[in-house]
Amino acid sequence: MEFAFETERVHKMRRRHVRLTVAAIPGADDERFCVFHTPLLGSLYLEGQGHLDDDCGRCGTTLMRGMRSITGVSGVVFICPSCHCGNITSAVRREALDAAS
Ligand SMILES: [Zn+2]
Repeated sequence: MEFAFETERVHKMRRRHVRLTVAAIPGADDERFCVFHTPLLGSLYLEGQGHLDDDCGRCGTTLMRGMRSITGVSGVVFICPSCHCGNITSAVRREALDAAS
């Protein structure tokens, strides 16, 4: 069980920023990949109670806040609302994207 003060402590003391891997944005007709766009600058794709923030690999904009672990979701590309580059969470997927382009 995680108490509210414990969550707050985790946010303050153990917060880590992880840069996602920049990747080519697949074409709209490529059914192997799902491309996500945030609706507004400053919005997040995901927000949780963990200590990891996932940031754009190019400009450092935070795309996901409060993750508990770096979870690989294959076939998903997150477009940064600031610099508009594609971001993925592992080099394995970048290689797949490079092969597709
Ligand atoms: Zn960016």
